[in-house]
Amino acid sequence: MKVYTWKQLSWAIFLIYVPVIILGLLTGLLIELLLVSTIVHIGWHYYFLKKLNDWLWVSKSMVLPQGRSVWEHAYIGIHNMQQRNRKRRNRLANVISRFREGSEALPDAVVVFKSDGEIVWCNKLAQYQLGFKWPDDAGDNITNLIRHPDFVEYLRSEAYNEPLDLISPINIDKILEFRVMPYAKNQRLLIVRDVTNYRQMDETRRNFVANVSHELRTPLTVLQGYIEILEMSAQDNKMQLKTIKVLDQQTARMCSLVEQLMTLSKIEGAATLDFHESINIPALLTQIENEAITLGRKKSHSVQFKVDPKLSVVGDEMQLRSAMSNLVYNAINYTPEGGSIKVLWKKLPEGAYFCVMDTGDGIAPEHILHLTERFYRVDSSRSRDTGGSGLGLSIVKHALSHYDTQLQIESNIGEGSQFSFIISNNYVQ
Ligand code: ADP
Repeated sequence: MKVYTWKQLSWAIFLIYVPVIILGLLTGLLIELLLVSTIVHIGWHYYFLKKLNDWLWVSKSMVLPQGRSVWEHAYIGIHNMQQRNRKRRNRLANVISRFREGSEALPDAVVVFKSDGEIVWCNKLAQYQLGFKWPDDAGDNITNLIRHPDFVEYLRSEAYNEPLDLISPINIDKILEFRVMPYAKNQRLLIVRDVTNYRQMDETRRNFVANVSHELRTPLTVLQGYIEILEMSAQDNKMQLKTIKVLDQQTARMCSLVEQLMTLSKIEGAATLDFHESINIPALLTQIENEAITLGRKKSHSVQFKVDPKLSVVGDEMQLRSAMSNLVYNAINYTPEGGSIKVLWKKLPEGAYFCVMDTGDGIAPEHILHLTERFYRVDSSRSRDTGGSGLGLSIVKHALSHYDTQLQIESNIGEGSQFSFIISNNYVQ
């Protein structure tokens, strides 16, 4: 049906009042007839207005009431609007019920809450895993139900890129992983997963590696002792001396691998660092520098350390020593004879900056992302020659993760590499 136009409205008034005016002029009762017809006209409109009111508020029927003229248009317009709203509501209800069904099918607890913490909805698993009661807890603040200070801080910080592991609020034997995502307008989606098995497996793996490495140390030391005795007793027998040399090299490699495995398990397994302990980094770097100069001399390297003598940080000395020395020794190992190695330790506005630059062969871009993976080596045969195990950069990555920082690697084939990191001002002394 088309819109009721001004033209139609004018015609309706014209058809009512022109006959009344003519009749009034003929009979001499113009005013009376105009008054009566206006009252009848208003009454007619009131009748349809009442009908509309009854339809909308009393009968609420789906069937359209009968209307005339402009009222018919108004009824149809309202009816069409209602239909459209109903369809929109149904579509919305479908979306919500699909979201809820999907959330119920997930193997995780799901809670929707507002940015001020007010709980909007939760699935069944949230009731089992977090002890929520539904619908009793609707409208409650989420921090009243998950009271752990770390969770409250996690919500407050709004730094949701990393998940948070916490003991379950209802079962201390379970470890839950909490992930929060901004969702719709001013809402948050909390996804909670039971990670007890993964964490236990991880722990078992770490303990296993640590124990095996520890147990291998004693037989290796014994082997090394016997190899030394054999070397002394072989005297001039060239064949024997060659064999013993290979034995010695391989045992040394195994010892270094065991040491690195133990260091990695220690760093990986370490809880948060004790940030009260101050580390004298300039002194530590002097030791590393002396070792690097000795090692570099064999390959005629130029080794240069530029260290800010007043710049120190807090944390675990063993971990930072491992991180820094691994980067420096790598530079020496992977830089050909006559190359140069520069080490920087200086203050930047963002924090303490450590950087190792070398003029080695460089690393192809496709390897750079994988370098910090355990046992990853770009060229395993070359790495083996240098005694490398592929664990050094993994140790660096884990040590730095305790400082919430990352290793930056820049390298160009044929030009050299640069390994650096920044320890934020929070840890600088
Ligand atoms: P590895 O014990 O084999 O040295 P790392 O984890 O320390 O193990 O290093 C992984 C790989 O990264 C090495 O095998 C080597 O190929 C490459 N790499 C590390 N540092 C450098 C460097 N300064 N220059 C060139 N390649 C490097």
